[in-house]
Amino acid sequence: MMWYVVSIILGTLVGSFLNVCILRLPKEESIVWPGSHCPQCKNPIKFYDNIPLISYLLLKGRCRDCHRPISFQYPLIEGITGLASLILFMKFGPSLSYLLYFIFVAALIVITVIDLYHQIIPDVISLPGIGVGLLASLIIPQITLFNSLIGILLGGGSLFLVATVYHWLFKREGMGGGDVKLLAMIGGFLGWKAVILTILLGSLIGSMIGIMVMVLKEKDFKYAIPFGPFLSVGAVISLLYQNEIIFWYLQYKG
Ligand SMILES: [Zn+2]
Repeated sequence: MMWYVVSIILGTLVGSFLNVCILRLPKEESIVWPGSHCPQCKNPIKFYDNIPLISYLLLKGRCRDCHRPISFQYPLIEGITGLASLILFMKFGPSLSYLLYFIFVAALIVITVIDLYHQIIPDVISLPGIGVGLLASLIIPQITLFNSLIGILLGGGSLFLVATVYHWLFKREGMGGGDVKLLAMIGGFLGWKAVILTILLGSLIGSMIGIMVMVLKEKDFKYAIPFGPFLSVGAVISLLYQNEIIFWYLQYKG
């Protein structure tokens, strides 16, 4: 029980760092220097005002110095990362698998938010992510090196498939090379079956959201819809449930 609490605290601390990455990576700024500061008054944030979730509540969502509101995104990302850490800890226990999959999901969180804001997936996350995924296959029992390699090749080779699906869904060109590198990273961590499952789930979720947006915006649907967030959600579902989904499919397909 205590370890569950520790995993949540660890998750929120990492989430706090992810907020920095989300803000600075698209601007190509250093993620370690300078320390956190208020985006409005530029005053440095004291360490005691930088406690994940707690500080936001104590400060009632406002900067201590200029009293202007702090974006709700900060506690939201901290909370989501804390929850992700807990769920992975419950599934994999205290192990290297937990640690590596947590790094993987943390990368997906950063990619999702940056893609939503900027329609880009930074290479500085996805490219090293492919290497880390391949290394992980040597360490953790959930995946073989061979499966990881095939996953990277399939993910990286899926450009055509995913571009076609995207065009069919959103009626516009929009699949970038970033999505393909993301899929290669997903393949490296989760293997080739998960790449296929991720594309299917991502397309399914993407089309449902796409239809909702079309209905709400009365079919004037020219907004850029990034695909990265849907692929990320598909990858997390694959990570947690791929065996159950594939078992269910094989059992009920005929
Ligand atoms: Zn301020």
